[in-house]
Amino acid sequence: MSGLVIREIHKSYGPVPALSDISLNVENGKFLCLLGPSGCGKSTLLRIIAGLEASSRGQILLDGRDITKVPPHLRDFGMVFQSLALFPHLSVGGNIAFALGIRGASREVQRREVERLLDLVHLPGIAERSIMQLSGGQRQRVAIARALALKPKLFLLDEPMSALDAKLREAMQVELKRLQQELGITTLLVTHDQKEAMTTADLVVLMSRGVIQQVAPPLEMYRKPANTFVAEFIGATNLIDATSLGGGRVQVAGATVTIEQAPPVGQFTFSVRPEDLNLKDEASSSSLVGRIAFTRHLGASIEVNVSVDGMERDLVVAVPARQESSLSIGRPVHVHVNSATCVVLR
Ligand code: ADP
Repeated sequence: MSGLVIREIHKSYGPVPALSDISLNVENGKFLCLLGPSGCGKSTLLRIIAGLEASSRGQILLDGRDITKVPPHLRDFGMVFQSLALFPHLSVGGNIAFALGIRGASREVQRREVERLLDLVHLPGIAERSIMQLSGGQRQRVAIARALALKPKLFLLDEPMSALDAKLREAMQVELKRLQQELGITTLLVTHDQKEAMTTADLVVLMSRGVIQQVAPPLEMYRKPANTFVAEFIGATNLIDATSLGGGRVQVAGATVTIEQAPPVGQFTFSVRPEDLNLKDEASSSSLVGRIAFTRHLGASIEVNVSVDGMERDLVVAVPARQESSLSIGRPVHVHVNSATCVVLR
């Protein structure tokens, strides 16, 4: 197969495996995010792909060629790390052209390439400037330009935006996505920020404790989480314990609601997003009765906590901001469950 193939990679530092049997196919030209909480093994996996770390077992293939034992400098990958690791004693141009110089490119070729790459990252004309004179966002772009100088087959980024403030970070995420689409370069980004993954990736790989939990496009992962961990990690959700009554009807805290997806026999848990619950004054054929416990403004919407008798946790409902007047604390409400949006979890 063309692209990157990761086969049954395993890595142990001590008794607990950092990575357990990781297998993954990445088509050429795709933008993939390795996502998960701190310590789940994302960086270890990226470092193994880069060749900076050896796996305990398993194989890595690029366009059909086994590169498991190829040293990092012969893999033709571009890398950007959290620290950026720019050379402070070199100019912007000197940093970007560094690897080209080592490969013996003439001064003229280096000058042209620096110009092209600075245009690409929207920083034209700053080749002579010192790295120390740049802002955090500009350094970021220079690090990206430097990583792209050798036209790498694979572009690897390990939390490169975590030091930037929130606004700049969002702007850089959009920039990175634009650049990746423009160049069509296969890109792997490590992040613990689910919004960053949702904004940039074609495919999200969500990991926990060294194991892949789900591989899916962002929206699919949001809409059809594979298990409880995924449902909770990606966006806000309600996890509801239920008992199957047959025919799509399920019992929840003394009431019955309908869910479209066939529920398993007996007890199970399903996930429903806050925007898929509606507050109504009247009961429906699929609703729970409760009282408004707490509200929180989020700008375009209001997050409403509804306490329901017999349920351990409040239900969280997203309500359009214009409905604010109907949201007084203590008010009885019916929470209508949109049956098509409930996802049965393993
Ligand atoms: P993440 O990038 O998801 O935060 P890492 O890949 O850095 O996670 O780490 C995965 C696990 O492996 C963690 O439990 C971490 O403590 C452990 N680990 C990573 N690198 C080393 C190392 N060089 N020596 C020992 N343990 C390590």
